[in-house]
Amino acid sequence: MLTIRHLTAHYGAAQALFGVDLDVGRGETVALVGANGAGKSTLLRCVMGLVRPTGGSIVLDGDDVTQAPPARMVRKGLALSPEGREVFGELTVRENLELGAIPLALGGAEKARRMEEVFARFPKLGERAGQLAGTLSGGEQQMMAMGRALMAGPKLLLLDEPSLGLAPLITDEIFAIIRQLARGGTTILLVEQNAARALSASDKAYLLANGRIVEQGESRRLLNDATLRAAFLGAS
Ligand code: ATP
Repeated sequence: MLTIRHLTAHYGAAQALFGVDLDVGRGETVALVGANGAGKSTLLRCVMGLVRPTGGSIVLDGDDVTQAPPARMVRKGLALSPEGREVFGELTVRENLELGAIPLALGGAEKARRMEEVFARFPKLGERAGQLAGTLSGGEQQMMAMGRALMAGPKLLLLDEPSLGLAPLITDEIFAIIRQLARGGTTILLVEQNAARALSASDKAYLLANGRIVEQGESRRLLNDATLRAAFLGAS
């Protein structure tokens, strides 16, 4: 579904990605793991059209989308739940969710149907639909960021650090939802610093270090690889 080849990205003179190759097949959950500053968010942002690659290609279902802007990527079936959630605290939960579908210009009925789906998946958001998003807990804001992405009805969902700053129990809840989405057929590209969790929830994984893919393979194998465990996953 998604084919990335030789992708490079820069911030001014500083290079963040050095020739990244990555594939996501339809229906797969693919994890992208690596340390702080490895370039994981940059890669997602390139895919979403938020950062312009300086070289290489991004192909989605046969279409070259390397330089496509974000609104076009949403119309092509992508949605990003960004790192840090980027919730609009002065807007209500309902208004925040509506933002996710703007590039699609949906009719009122379809928007309402999708919102009901989001509320069915995240009942707490339904209970708090009229509340200002700034009053939600961290876990609820994460759910809202995911719900906002789901409003776009994505065929490929990009999740950037969904567990960042959340307590273990809330992280469990978030990962249970990620698994549900995957079982329901959504293709997922998941960026996580919590590599053990990401590997447990994915089919295959890529390890990014200093802007380069240094390891890739079946998540189960990577999770059990002793050298990798020592180097990247901690002792747990
Ligand atoms: P993190 O989890 O900390 O976000 P990451 O793996 O997602 O890490 P990126 O955020 O993609 O890493 O950052 C990759 C490199 O690009 C880092 O060296 C970072 O300092 C740099 N970088 C990221 N965003 C910008 C920016 N807006 N301007 C300049 N440099 C940036």
